[in-house]
Amino acid sequence: MSDSRSAALFAAARRLMPGGVSSPVRAMGAIGREPFVVARGEGAELVDVDGRRYIDWVVSWGALIAGHAHPDVVAAVTARTAAGTSYGAPCEGEFELARLVVELVPSAEMVRFTCSGTEAAMSAVRLARAVTGKSRILKFAGAYHGHADPFLAEAGSGLATQGIPASPGVPEAVVKETTVVPWNDRQAVEQALDGGEFAAIVCEPYPANMGLVPPQSGFLGFLREQADRAGALLVFDEVITGFRVAVGGAQEREQVVPDLTVLGKVLGGGLPLAAFAGRRELMEQVAPSGPVYQAGTLSGNPLATAAGRVAVELARDRALRARLERTTSELAGGLRELARELGVPLYVAEVPGLLCPFFASQPVRNFEDARASDAKAYAAFARAMIERGVFVPPSRFEAWFPSFAHESSHVERTLIAARDALAQAAA
Ligand code: PLP
Repeated sequence: MSDSRSAALFAAARRLMPGGVSSPVRAMGAIGREPFVVARGEGAELVDVDGRRYIDWVVSWGALIAGHAHPDVVAAVTARTAAGTSYGAPCEGEFELARLVVELVPSAEMVRFTCSGTEAAMSAVRLARAVTGKSRILKFAGAYHGHADPFLAEAGSGLATQGIPASPGVPEAVVKETTVVPWNDRQAVEQALDGGEFAAIVCEPYPANMGLVPPQSGFLGFLREQADRAGALLVFDEVITGFRVAVGGAQEREQVVPDLTVLGKVLGGGLPLAAFAGRRELMEQVAPSGPVYQAGTLSGNPLATAAGRVAVELARDRALRARLERTTSELAGGLRELARELGVPLYVAEVPGLLCPFFASQPVRNFEDARASDAKAYAAFARAMIERGVFVPPSRFEAWFPSFAHESSHVERTLIAARDALAQAAA
């Protein structure tokens, strides 16, 4: 690595950009190595600037459900590009994608497009605060909703805690309005809601930013009831799960309909696009139909909506969905089997389209459990996988993302690498 082109480029980048990256996890600090620098993506693989190939289980952190450079996505974007890249005026592409979202996502009657999940989540909270006339929000420890101030709240100890800033620069006054409770903890939710006036309960329905920690049976339905009891909105952040765990997201799989939904990643087919959506009477409060201000120069961008439309259409293809489920369970099952054989304590969480191996001997139910997993073992494992040409998330708190481009051969090659990597992690 040290005399590679990647290393030279990255060393220069570190003098130009903080940490050499545009988003922190890409620096791979948590697993104690430097990143490779990407030259191109092809289907389920990445190629770095030194010509090394990697099977890619990150696929742009889940944005590329069809894999890299899917020919239909490339064709749609190429065709749109010749017609101009941004208009600052309405275009048909955004209407078509909005129609698809409304058709597929159970809670969506109207949609507002943004450029990032951060903006969409931030705007959903503004809307919830406006329509309820309350300011407090309830979120779950270990859940990520982008980097807007109200969400950068850390939990202290105890069942329900008033948030403390998770980053310098986040005013205490802002995160004082955020209450943080442990995921899957009914008592903590009830206790928190009894202690104040809440605008919204915000959750990732299948949290995938503390590793993957699905809800215990009935927990999402419980949140629906609790939000109604408290006069708060229920906001599902489906930036990761939307169009992935089912075409209509976790809300379709779990049959729990939130008031507002945040979408991103798959929605933009690998281009910058996200959205928030919900019931008509709520969404009509958004400017210019209503008074809640929200805007964006590049929002609903024609290239992004063209890419997104192709990706979402692919995501509703039954054969592709069946393959995604198969890939997920073959990989998760294969990792479990290897770990058993090698005597490595490994708990592999799995829902269709997402998986996450925790170096833990017990099931992981919340962020505290996730944090108790073996960080050193995951780091050694991930380093060994990347050295063997398999790009797995460089953090134990990130989910793995199968795509439609992954085939059984990718799973087989991944498991061959994992045999060595697990042995190395256990050593
Ligand atoms: N919400 C969830 C669940 C996410 O996983 C992310 C990003 O990973 C975001 C929101 C923020 O989206 P973005 O990175 O597009 O701002």
